[in-house]
Amino acid sequence: MYDSYNRHITYLRISVTDRCNLACKYCMPEQVKGVLRGSEIQDFEEITQIVRTLAPLGISKIRLTGGEPLVRKGLDELIRMISGIDGIREITMTTNGLLLAGMAHRLALAGLDRVNISLDTLDPDRYREITRGGDIRRVKAGIDSALKAGLNPLKINCVITPDTTAGEIEKLKEYCHSNDLGLRFIRQMNLGTGKFWKVEGGEGGHCRICNRIRLTADGRFIPCLFSEKEFGIREHGIEGAFTRAIQQKPEKGRVNSRNTFYSIGG
Ligand code: SAM
Ligand code: SF4
Repeated sequence: MYDSYNRHITYLRISVTDRCNLACKYCMPEQVKGVLRGSEIQDFEEITQIVRTLAPLGISKIRLTGGEPLVRKGLDELIRMISGIDGIREITMTTNGLLLAGMAHRLALAGLDRVNISLDTLDPDRYREITRGGDIRRVKAGIDSALKAGLNPLKINCVITPDTTAGEIEKLKEYCHSNDLGLRFIRQMNLGTGKFWKVEGGEGGHCRICNRIRLTADGRFIPCLFSEKEFGIREHGIEGAFTRAIQQKPEKGRVNSRNTFYSIGG
């Protein structure tokens, strides 16, 4: 489907949970760890039905995100269910990587094509500080397993914060280069002020060619991160909510007072 600005919407980012096993400072307020009740979260059959409905309307690429998608039990089963749908050409996932080591092989077998792993620094203490408690060794083990499982090309997402040093960036570049990993820098965004801009090797602010739409874990389509518009499946049905979200996708992002990524999926 095309939106009002002639952008072809082909990419759906699905948040499968708003829960997370970390609480990164720029993403999730401390102590929150997700707010949706189990009964509000869409089950795998509902998500599969959404993808089945949207594939004929032009969605061909799916990215699973969260919260942390790997805290959702049986995620490989969901991947298996949606990878069999006609018209879905690629399934990817954005993860913090903590739980990946034990799961990468199963996810790849189920039909996952690629992963992006979020890693902002190689310094174990800084990593623990940014993520409020994360153990970087588990992320590195996750990266190794993903590579062994053939989840290629693997990209690292690095959020640049005001505290990021040039030295940290250099170390990440070297690590990615020697492990054959892509590296994408994302400037820390503040949805409330609408501040977002392109950084080297990164995305953000490409409104003119934005082909994506987001689905929250409780079944609301969000046409743009920097807008408060949302269209619930419970009110409008799958096709009705999706069509409204596309028709009302703004030309450019502005501001969003929600300002929390964990609930939208980043
Ligand atoms: N938990 C998974 C992870 O961390 O990769 C997936 C969800 S997370 C919300 C998706 C992406 O959003 C991550 O790469 C994260 O670094 C990024 N993100 C979160 N808050 C952000 C912010 N304020 N500005 C820019 N990127 C942010
Ligand atoms: Fe969790 Fe990802 Fe947000 Fe960090 S960025 S708190 S890992 S959802």
